[in-house]
Amino acid sequence: MTPLKLTMLGMDALNDNTVNIRLKVDSKQPFVVIAGQFLRLHFTQDDGLETFRSYSIASIFPEEKTIMNEVDIAVSWVPGGLATEKLSKMQVGETLEATGPYGRFCLLPDTHKRYFLIATGTGVTPYRAMLKEIELRLQQGSEFYVVMGAQDETGLLYQADFVAMQQTYDNFHYIPCLSRVQREEQGSNDQAGYVQTYLAQHDFDTENDIAYLCGNPNMVDDTFSLLKEKGMPVPLIKREKYISPAPKKK
Ligand SMILES: Cc1cc2nc3c(=O)[nH]c(=O)nc-3n(C[C@H](O)[C@H](O)[C@H](O)COP(=O)(O)OP(=O)(O)OC[C@H]3O[C@@H](n4cnc5c(N)ncnc54)[C@H](O)[C@@H]3O)c2cc1C
Repeated sequence: MTPLKLTMLGMDALNDNTVNIRLKVDSKQPFVVIAGQFLRLHFTQDDGLETFRSYSIASIFPEEKTIMNEVDIAVSWVPGGLATEKLSKMQVGETLEATGPYGRFCLLPDTHKRYFLIATGTGVTPYRAMLKEIELRLQQGSEFYVVMGAQDETGLLYQADFVAMQQTYDNFHYIPCLSRVQREEQGSNDQAGYVQTYLAQHDFDTENDIAYLCGNPNMVDDTFSLLKEKGMPVPLIKREKYISPAPKKK
């Protein structure tokens, strides 16, 4: 896998607990990446062992497969976390080692009638990366639902990009599912509760729909079970769970 040097260009708060980090990518070979893929950032544990944490590329890709010289990632801080500790202290101009790109959580070449792109938290970033390809498929007549789970409005990361798409295309639906606090000024698609509560009300066309699940592992597991019960074939339920690798031992 291509070794990369990443240089911090800037960090902006998305909410109290999440930041967007801009990184310059230096690579011996062109860094060719497909929307939906992720990077592994390399870190050293306190005991000196090398480990990594994965982050999806959050930038809106100019096209589905492209060379990137700069990428955005969205990072939610985890109290006491290794990457949290290191990344939150990084200054502009500091560097990190990484490898990538990895992953197959990408739009398949076959087009589907309806796409359900389901996320919690930073799990929405692969869908942001895919927005230009999504637009092409909307123009070809596919319908997209981005179903976004958060505790409250501040968790609706990058919502402006999805709302803009919804304002342009009747066949694009952005569905915020707020589990704790509803918005004072509710959007027309707002749902109270988890993404599962919303999806439970849906009927699925098990031959023509496809679903993508990304983010919190419990959400991914629960929603996977729900969609299977509703008859969705397993190959048409794509999953990416945001978990850390087990700590390395000497
Ligand atoms: C393919 C892939 C893509 C990912 N993309 C992203 C991304 O785009 N943005 C992002 O923020 N994360 C992403 N993750 C998760 C990320 O890799 C780290 O797991 C996360 O940032 C926590 O790392 P840490 O080193 O700060 O905490 P760790 O040192 O890994 O964890 C510290 C402690 O907190 C627990 N913990 C870990 N994560 C959480 C959590 N979310 N909530 C509560 N407790 C937790 C751990 O079990 C551990 O006990 C992705 C994971 C995968 C596998």
